[in-house]
Amino acid sequence: MRQRSLKETLTIEGIGIHTGERTKIIIHPAEENTGIVFLRRGTYIPADPDHVVGTFLSTDLGKGSEIVKTVEHLLATLHLLRVTNAVIEVIGGCEIPIMDGSAYVFYKEMKSLVREQAEEIEPFTVEDKLRVESGEAFIEADPCSCLEITYEGFFKGYLGRRRFTFRGNAKDVVLARTFCFDEDIEFIKSKGLGKGGSLENTLVIGKNGVYNRGGLRYEDEPVRHKVLDIIGDLYLLGAPFRGRVVSHRGGHTLNYMFVKKLYRRSKLGLGSLRG
Ligand code: ZN
Repeated sequence: MRQRSLKETLTIEGIGIHTGERTKIIIHPAEENTGIVFLRRGTYIPADPDHVVGTFLSTDLGKGSEIVKTVEHLLATLHLLRVTNAVIEVIGGCEIPIMDGSAYVFYKEMKSLVREQAEEIEPFTVEDKLRVESGEAFIEADPCSCLEITYEGFFKGYLGRRRFTFRGNAKDVVLARTFCFDEDIEFIKSKGLGKGGSLENTLVIGKNGVYNRGGLRYEDEPVRHKVLDIIGDLYLLGAPFRGRVVSHRGGHTLNYMFVKKLYRRSKLGLGSLRG
């Protein structure tokens, strides 16, 4: 497949869900073989497993003393649109804006700007069966020429057991918002996180339903959001992903373990693409 970048620069502004800080991101087109790179106060931070510095409630990248938090929904958008080269400048706060809690704004703004480049890129393919686990949670992958991602889990509150499979249609996941359970809010705040969280950007789930006016966007919105997060975290591999993945109750930490294992195993040494 061809490499892709953007036709022009795209600027998006909003607040970070965890820091509460107002941040502007400028997504610059980039030449072939640049990869996806964040730029924060003069430091270039490649979006790869070696630069992951945090996975608690978000995926955070860093290099030296600079960090960029909560990259997953933007990475999911780049992955879904197969944008392989971009430099994302992060100005003001250090967190990618949460917007409405989904990938929708990024996707809508970026979709018409995508352009193909001359050079090819090999998709990142799963070559052998792979499994990572932590307690009850696990992620398994099998070789497949497709991109197929299943999430299954038990959701507290009224949702119960849920399972959803993504088979390549962006519309099935881009609108799915970040969620939390009402009983967990105090814990999240006690960790100094969720400072920018509100009903404008987070689906809050209780015992009998959701607190958000307007309700759910998909009847199984939280499980679709889990799939969106996986699509984002998988893009740390540096190329569009091909394989069949099943996550059972996984989160960013397990996604990261999975990606790291795949990355290390990869004989292609994709990291070398970036020099
Ligand atoms: Zn998310």
